Amino acid sequence: MAEQGVLVGIDLGGTNVRAGVVSQSGELLHWEEQPIEAQRGPESGLATIAVLVENVVEQAHQPVLSLGIGSTGPLDRERGCIQNPYTLPGWEDVDIVTPLRERFNVPVALENDADAAALGEAWAGAGRGAASIVMLTIGTGVGFAWIRNGEIHRGVGGEHPEGGHILIDPAGPECYCGARGCLESLVAGPAIARFAQQAASGKRSPFLESAAEAIEAIEARHVFEGARQGDPACLELVDQTAVHIARGLASIMMMILPEVIVLTGGVLRSYGLMEERIRTELERVDVIIPARQVKLQLSQTGQQAGILGAARAAQLLLQEAL
Ligand SMILES: [Zn+2]
Repeated sequence: MAEQGVLVGIDLGGTNVRAGVVSQSGELLHWEEQPIEAQRGPESGLATIAVLVENVVEQAHQPVLSLGIGSTGPLDRERGCIQNPYTLPGWEDVDIVTPLRERFNVPVALENDADAAALGEAWAGAGRGAASIVMLTIGTGVGFAWIRNGEIHRGVGGEHPEGGHILIDPAGPECYCGARGCLESLVAGPAIARFAQQAASGKRSPFLESAAEAIEAIEARHVFEGARQGDPACLELVDQTAVHIARGLASIMMMILPEVIVLTGGVLRSYGLMEERIRTELERVDVIIPARQVKLQLSQTGQQAGILGAARAAQLLLQEAL
């Protein structure tokens, strides 16, 4: 029988940090959120996180066994450091594990946020019971993670693979990853927004031209809204997005053929508009692999996936130590 007590999961993003108390069977008991105010620097951020954890621990009324962090990367997991000046300005080589371990006197795990979310979904969401789960997050960027037999798949040197940047269209837009037409450059929210802004500048969409105050203010959500209202240019953009997502899913299926692909993120809130087209495209993949058997499922834990997965990482750390 497992030791009495709870796990704490921390989900650190570029804007907010969330912390929650999770039971050993994967039930989120209580959680809270705070702005991280990254521009105030890592010292202030670490203090915010410590206070937030103290607050949730106080609500737990049970001993905390271990603590996990799912953080926006890049990270150095070995050394417990965050190396992310991109979305956390000033956070270069910041040790987040040691201060939390010293303050709370429990083991502390650190994982990439995409890995943590997938771990959460595999433990307590749409991937429960499946041996191989891929999670694809399409929002501001495209996140990818693969959980095999309950554990995170790690690349060489323990690094996190970036499946969101697989090549889809070599003639597509440039991406900061160095490629043209990778999945993220075609289907992430900002990419859809750029296509929509081009359509509006070219006077191809009456809906988009009047959707926002300025052309630069047009966002991906306007495209989905326009499609719901039957705007032809928006429908075309949604169709294009669905085809690109389907190509990404097809590549993932060809390489991994997981039991479940969990879909999440802001863009996939409009999955209903794209589902039919995605499924039709995927039928073509069915020739050489049983793609139809791969379950495509929307996330069941939603925004709590990160907290749950960080807590699961904390639990796995305890089991490793046994
Ligand atoms: Zn890319």
